Amino acid sequence: MKIGFIGLGNMGAPMATNLAKLHEVIGFDPVGIPDGIPAAHSATMAANDADVVITMLPNGEILRNVTAEIHPAMKSGAIHLDCSTVDVDSAKDVAQSARGHGIRAIDAPVSGGIGGASAGTLTFMVGADSDSFATVSPLFDIMGQRAVHCGPSGSGQAAKICNNMILGVTMIATCEAFALADKLGLDRKAMFDVVSTSSGSSWSMNSYCPAPGIGPQSPADNNYKPGFAAELMLKDLNLSQMAATAADADTPMGKAARDLYAKFVQDEDGRGKDFSAMLPRFAERTRST
Ligand code: NAD
Repeated sequence: MKIGFIGLGNMGAPMATNLAKLHEVIGFDPVGIPDGIPAAHSATMAANDADVVITMLPNGEILRNVTAEIHPAMKSGAIHLDCSTVDVDSAKDVAQSARGHGIRAIDAPVSGGIGGASAGTLTFMVGADSDSFATVSPLFDIMGQRAVHCGPSGSGQAAKICNNMILGVTMIATCEAFALADKLGLDRKAMFDVVSTSSGSSWSMNSYCPAPGIGPQSPADNNYKPGFAAELMLKDLNLSQMAATAADADTPMGKAARDLYAKFVQDEDGRGKDFSAMLPRFAERTRST
């Protein structure tokens, strides 16, 4: 397959590098692209001859701008595979633009972070028609270990923001419970041993424990260097609140998590730290602070 890859940042660069081992890849990013991948001078140039154009961009606004640029240039029947995390409406608008230009669009945000992108072990959450999903499945196999077909356009983004809303809420719950355990004089290792094998268990506790020196290796063991940065969690929680507002869904825990991460990132030195650094934040506080 001829692949145009647009947006080769922390995630896009290793994904494109993995694809280039088996496919012809041409890349475009205004900031530069990794060695070994031929560079296009513009997004249009990366897109116009490609069977599949992959975008891995920071947000919905940039995705919409790039979409407006590349869709008119793409070959009839080609696929625009967007792997960015964006709002559901942007994903649906990209699909509508694709229909208007005789091409196909897929939203396929990922879970697994930079490590998963490098190792080719991402999980893809996919909004697409069945034929388009089948066409790009070999690419998911290279970049990831699992691709779940969630439904039509927009479903991939919907799955991603619901998943990350649960993640934000459970991470906060896990961190505040550790801080309470500290104040009750409970040993953190004992807390981990109980909760990780009890009904309070979650991925946040079992696989990404926010307490250093306990459980599997996690950013807590590396002074909370991300990992998954608090500001990226805030981005996803904002997206879930936008979606909840648009769909008139009641999400009080998601809203509380969004507000806490907003405060952490904007007012409390959380920017640039892993999202599990909520634990030292809670541990330093009292009920009245
Ligand atoms: P990043 O900022 O490192 O990369 C984005 C790239 O897009 C940058 O290199 C930037 O130069 C490029 N870009 C910006 N405008 C462009 C344009 N008009 N044309 C072409 N390229 C342009 O971000 P990232 O960490 O690689 O994340 C990419 C997406 O993946 C985001 O939507 C993010 O939410 C999502 N995501 C990230 C992670 C993670 O752990 N980093 C995990 C899951 C999902």
